[in-house]
Order: sequence, then structure tokens, then C-alpha cells
Amino acid sequence: MTETSEKPVPSLDTLLSLAGQYCLAANGNAITRLVMPANPAHDNVLLEPPKTPLDVYAFAGQHNLADLAVTTSAHLHAVRLSTMSDDVALRMGPVYLHRLVTLLMERERSLERLLLQNPPTHKNCAQKLGSLTDAWMFAVFNLLGADQIRPDVPVGVLRDTLGVIGTELRCETCKLLLDAKIQQVVDGWLNTRRTI
Ligand SMILES: [Zn+2]
Repeated sequence: MTETSEKPVPSLDTLLSLAGQYCLAANGNAITRLVMPANPAHDNVLLEPPKTPLDVYAFAGQHNLADLAVTTSAHLHAVRLSTMSDDVALRMGPVYLHRLVTLLMERERSLERLLLQNPPTHKNCAQKLGSLTDAWMFAVFNLLGADQIRPDVPVGVLRDTLGVIGTELRCETCKLLLDAKIQQVVDGWLNTRRTI
């Protein structure tokens, strides 16, 4: 008689905690087997974000577990580098620290580029004051000024923030141009690189 019931898979946090507890760190192969992509525990990172993704990333860097580092990096967009402790930076090492810094900077620049491209001008628009371009530039200026262009801006927040511009517009053509521009920014943001 074969056993068909599936055993519960512990979370990655649990596994890493156990790894540390039982000094498995001394045996790189054991850790690699624990968190390699073929192991269900690795998939848990995708299904359920680790509770302490920065620690998981540092752990991956420390043991050169590239696949785990890549997967975990998708959960690190909200990391504030200025508050990262020396201990965490030392644990992940210069290579993985550099990759993380590059990812976060690239995401920020990507969003900036998307926003700084003005929407197309509606030629001969009847609305002379408060044109779409002016309203757009004003909104982007405010986002920049408020330090809201971050690597972790949720797409819903981005859509809502830019959507407010539409309430100032009276011209239907300008509203359509705005909607198309917002969709372009959202698509660009969704396609921006998410992992190291
Ligand atoms: Zn118009």
C-alpha cells in the first residue's frame, strides 16, 4: 500500500530558522538542498512572502544561493537602504548588496522615466487654462517633491494618484489622452524588472 497523503511543507522562514538553529550553515550543500528551486520550500517564497525577506536575502547571499536571492528580491522593493544595518549588509556580502542596490535604483529610475514623459498634447484644445500637460507636470512634480517615486509604489496607488488629474480636466479628448497615458505608465511599471 502506497502512501499518497501529502506532507505539510514548512515555511521557508521555519526552515531557515532551523538551519541556523542546528548550524546547518556549516554545510552549504544541506542548505542548498533545502532551498533549491526543486524543493517545495522554495516555491513557498513565491506563494507566501517570507516574513523577514531581508534576512532570507542576506542568508541567500551569505551562501551564494542565487536562485533564492533572485526570488526573494521581488519582496524587497520596500527596503530602505539608508536603514539597513551593517550586520545585514555584511551577511549578504558586496555582490548581493550591489545587486539589490542596483535593482532598487533601476526601479526608481524606470518610474521616473515613465512619469517624466508628458502625455501627448491635444492640439487646438478648447481648454486653455489647466491643460493636460500642465496638470500632468504638476502632479509629477508633487510626487517627486514628496519623495513618492519609490521602488515599491503599488500599481493601484499609481493609477489612483494619476487618475486625480482627470478631475481637473473639462475636455473629453484630454481625458482620453490622460487615460491612455496612465495605462502606458501602469503597463511600463508592471513590466519593470522586479528581481535582481
Ligand atoms: Zn483637450
